[in-house]
Amino acid sequence: MRHSNTATVTASYGRRGVLQSDGQQLPYILKGRRLRPVCGDRVEWQASDNEGQALVTAILERRNVLQRPDPRGKAETLAANLDCLAAVIAPQPAPDFFIVDRFICAAELMHADALLVWNKCDLQTAETEDLEVYRQLGYPVLSVSAQTGAGIDELSNTLGRGISMLAGQSGVGKSSLINQLVDDADVLTGELSESSGEGRHTTTASIAHQLPAGGLLVDTPGIRDFAPLIRDATIIQNGFREILLAAEACRFTNCQHTREPNCAVQAAVGEGHISPRRYESYKRLRNTSAQLSRHHR
Ligand code: GDP
Ligand code: ZN
Repeated sequence: MRHSNTATVTASYGRRGVLQSDGQQLPYILKGRRLRPVCGDRVEWQASDNEGQALVTAILERRNVLQRPDPRGKAETLAANLDCLAAVIAPQPAPDFFIVDRFICAAELMHADALLVWNKCDLQTAETEDLEVYRQLGYPVLSVSAQTGAGIDELSNTLGRGISMLAGQSGVGKSSLINQLVDDADVLTGELSESSGEGRHTTTASIAHQLPAGGLLVDTPGIRDFAPLIRDATIIQNGFREILLAAEACRFTNCQHTREPNCAVQAAVGEGHISPRRYESYKRLRNTSAQLSRHHR
């Protein structure tokens, strides 16, 4: 039997991709039909008969996955083993904090760090009050400009050595930020779209760019404004830290904080300890996720 090694997937498109092993990049092809590695996966590989190409034989256990509903509502995995999810917002287009909350919730459920990136700070627009809500909750908020480069070093260091991803509405500046954070991002993304003809219908092509501090920044160029999939309505409260904290005092241990009596969460919203907007996000996300799971029964 051939010697087998472990590596991290840094690009995937259909049956092919690129892996990184000891700082070296190596193209790979998958062994068998069942493997579906994504960026961030740790995989086992062997040398293949085709020199300079690795044969990926297994995916190691994942710490977490980021998924979105595909057009038919099925779960599509976009990345694995994420350490950090950064929700990007900007003065324009006007922030949709429901989208931000959905990403933060997804990050919390994955046990990944969440942070907010306030881009286009060169426009000198006053910060919206909502940002203070997130600071109070302990989420870092970084002011940056992809245009002037302000704050980019700090963002780069915050994303740091782990595996991270930028998320957010179309037009907030994710592509521009990736180009600021990574040398040659455009070139690599262009190569990816050229080589991803195969399997386009089954998998979303994605690429993990090397960050200066040593980490990886995962990008899915075709769908930068994806919505994360959160299927189980009852666990959504685990993604809202202030709700989870207040819930300890609810009368019922299985309280869902919507219409139950003696609910400490509803009381905290009434008393102004929990932002009504965050609570609204919680309820909306519950409805969205309940619809999804009805779809798939
Ligand atoms: P994406 O859809 O999130 O990938 O956003 P893009 O990176 O395509 O940017 C959308 C628009 O915002 C483009 O016209 C960019 O030039 C502009 N933009 C991006 N970052 C900044 C910034 O820091 N300042 C300003 N003023 N404009 C920006
Ligand atoms: Zn409750």
